[in-house]
Amino acid sequence: MEEKYILSLDIGTTTIRSVIYNSRTEIVGKAVAQVTLHYPISGYVEIDPDELWTIVIHVVNTCLQNAKLTAGQITAMGVSTQRGTFITWSKTTGKPFHRFITWKDLRADELVKQWNNSYSWKLFRFGAYVLYIISRSNRYRAGSVFKFSNNQTTLRLYWALLNIPELKVAVDKNDAMFGTLDTWLLYKMTGNKIHMTDVSSASATGFYDPFTMQWSNWALQLFGIPLSALPTVVDTAGEQFTSTAPEIWGHAIPIRSFIADQTASMWGSCCFDVGDVKLTMGTGTFFNINTGSVPHASVSGLYPVVGWRLGNELVFSAEGANNDTASIIKWAQNLGLFDNPQDTAEIAMSVPDSDDVFFIPAFSGLGPPYNDCTAASGFVGMKPSTTKAHLVRAVLESLAFRTAQLYSCVRTETSYTFNSIRLDGGVSNNDFIVQLVADLTGLRVIRPVEVEMSSLGCAHIVGLHLGIFSSKEELKSLRKIGTVFTPRPQVKKSYEVTVARWEEAVKRMCGWYL
Ligand code: ADP
Repeated sequence: MEEKYILSLDIGTTTIRSVIYNSRTEIVGKAVAQVTLHYPISGYVEIDPDELWTIVIHVVNTCLQNAKLTAGQITAMGVSTQRGTFITWSKTTGKPFHRFITWKDLRADELVKQWNNSYSWKLFRFGAYVLYIISRSNRYRAGSVFKFSNNQTTLRLYWALLNIPELKVAVDKNDAMFGTLDTWLLYKMTGNKIHMTDVSSASATGFYDPFTMQWSNWALQLFGIPLSALPTVVDTAGEQFTSTAPEIWGHAIPIRSFIADQTASMWGSCCFDVGDVKLTMGTGTFFNINTGSVPHASVSGLYPVVGWRLGNELVFSAEGANNDTASIIKWAQNLGLFDNPQDTAEIAMSVPDSDDVFFIPAFSGLGPPYNDCTAASGFVGMKPSTTKAHLVRAVLESLAFRTAQLYSCVRTETSYTFNSIRLDGGVSNNDFIVQLVADLTGLRVIRPVEVEMSSLGCAHIVGLHLGIFSSKEELKSLRKIGTVFTPRPQVKKSYEVTVARWEEAVKRMCGWYL
């Protein structure tokens, strides 16, 4: 029988990857390239759409070459993308009005603070709380604690509507199109034909209501977001995405899934059952727990995202996010604390502790349980005896501490029993951080052989849709487990004082930019 090949394209924040899998999920070709992030003004983090498009074409071509395949031999492709990053463009010309404003961008920070502190928003939340008391509806419970944040799209899009004159004119003329990164990429791949997003990417914008599964009316009205500019929201896999225009890669490739990166990595880790949990440590850290057909209404700031929808199968995920992880590693590397991220685990282990130095990883504020976009980053407690190795250890420890805090929120808010976490993402290569996460959470941490779970997840969902894989059970049987990190209770005990002092340091940095 002729072999089937699935091509995955994963657009991360720092990396674009293309991987081709065969029907046993073995990798037959791979290519990777870096995304150039532009920082034109302090706090702005942009991606140039033309640059991105050129890299996407190149990465897929290189991947095909490495696999010794042509586009015509690819059975189908799936695409996973970073979430919350968006662009707007003209319906008539297809020309963007600005670069991608990424989920890391802080230009709307003032708006975020103003809205979260405004009386009208507090009144809105109080209203939602009253409705919750009356109706006991989880939708109102979620509304009563909802806070804006920079990584959601809502206030960055509002900023663009207020500040980009060409966009304002286009909105008035009904000529504006909005898309998260996936939407724009699909539009380009199909020769400017298809304007769609899947439920998982839509739900990460902040103005898609996971309780009604529609764009949120209140948000559209409040911020003047024109419904006519928004993409159609569709299932996560299916024929609706059509095929790539043949001229792009020399032959049309059927597109069978567009999926948000965290959902894709849940698929890669086979988190198909209620209570399954995965931890991605990439640019940011994302804890995702499968909550089944019910969106989770959180009190500590876990975000209720749509996992995926495949016909009648609608799956939600409670997500705890810490926006800064690999971004902190990259910064520390640029600062000269080390040459190569691969060396950091060894550097951290070269000293017995951090010399009582603590790092607060809050470049874009702090997520649950703090939910504070005004928190500051920094080292606390440096002294003459402090060496680079102590600083490196403090940085790595802080990433593990934040991860353990997210886990604590998940545990407090849900009634699931956890024994293990499935891990992925670039930072999960770091044995020091991963072992400390296992120690502090008391869970076995399972690291797969390949840590690129978003790519694998795309292959899983596309392959299942096409019948290349018969069932989710088959996908589970194909999982390739690499290293299992077992918790060490004595280490957890020895860290009690350090963690308490670090939490004290974090509290001091909260509200710094109020
Ligand atoms: P994203 O998908 O969000 O773009 P990745 O999951 O690809 O990010 O992670 C890439 C990042 O992981 C690199 O930028 C690097 O900083 C970090 N990284 C890779 N290996 C290690 C390591 N051994 N220790 C710490 N960080 C690492």
